[in-house]
Amino acid sequence: MGGPVDLHTHTTASDGTLPPRALVDAAVRQGVRVLAVTDHDSTEGLGEAFDAARAHPLLTIVPGLEINCDVPGSEIHVLGYFPSADGWRAAWFQEFLREQRAERVARVHRIAERLAELGMPIDPDEVFAIVKEGSAGRPHVAQVMVKRGYVKTVREAFDRYLRADGPANVPRRRLTPVDAVRVIRRAGGIPVLAHPGLAGRDEMIPELVEAGLRGIEVYYAEHSPEQVASYLAQCREHDLVATGGSDHHGPQSGRTNPIGSPPVPMKVWEHLRDREAPTDGGPAASPAP
Ligand code: AMP
Ligand code: ZN
Ligand code: FE
Ligand code: FE
Repeated sequence: MGGPVDLHTHTTASDGTLPPRALVDAAVRQGVRVLAVTDHDSTEGLGEAFDAARAHPLLTIVPGLEINCDVPGSEIHVLGYFPSADGWRAAWFQEFLREQRAERVARVHRIAERLAELGMPIDPDEVFAIVKEGSAGRPHVAQVMVKRGYVKTVREAFDRYLRADGPANVPRRRLTPVDAVRVIRRAGGIPVLAHPGLAGRDEMIPELVEAGLRGIEVYYAEHSPEQVASYLAQCREHDLVATGGSDHHGPQSGRTNPIGSPPVPMKVWEHLRDREAPTDGGPAASPAP
């Protein structure tokens, strides 16, 4: 049994291995009551997740997403939540996400070129066959590398070649973490810094706060107790909500954090929801279709 709140999960709309419906069912089995679906640069899984949740009246689905930004030598991920504002449906925001996904497709081609130079040719179409209509990413490239026998596991592909400063990684277009925070705010969402312990760029937190950051993902499986303590202190210093999530990617994803872990108390969700960000002068939330 996990905790009642999980604010970070992925589906087949990006690099998760569970379709949204299966993720929802698995979350309910784990005892999760508040589930944020946060695919990379995509809200395409939300419709099916809402649909599946209708069979589970005790479950709240929080519409969300995750935007990955490159910074020199590392990457920073920003989560966005839309607990009541439906600005994520706005045409301009969806257009922004389509551009982000197009950049991901172009990046897969660039990574394939790099892999060929390293003596590990892959066919980008093999990657896109796994992605289907979802948001392409390095985990899909890693799966093809495993299939070709270049590496034994997805993790090995990242550790040796695809990590931020790895020999086969190529940077994506210059969307800064500050830009990501701003675009989420402009759509009426609540921006939260994802797993800062993995990024190692804590010095950027003040400028993200300045841009409108509302929380830090403090409770995260790969954060040490010292990191949790440090991020809790930074949340107090900057008046941010300390959130948490599993970053679950489904079975066979090369990621092992179960849904609902580490356990996150219900009051974290209540605090975050109460920090609802008004739209920052962007187009008003569009009506539901
Ligand atoms: P991308 O979306 O192309 O930037 O790829 C980043 C995603 O790869 C992250 O959001 C994770 O889902 C996944 N990832 C990062 N590191 C690893 C790893 N060591 N093993 C498996 N997946 C990883
Ligand atoms: Zn992912
Ligand atoms: Fe992430
Ligand atoms: Fe994630």
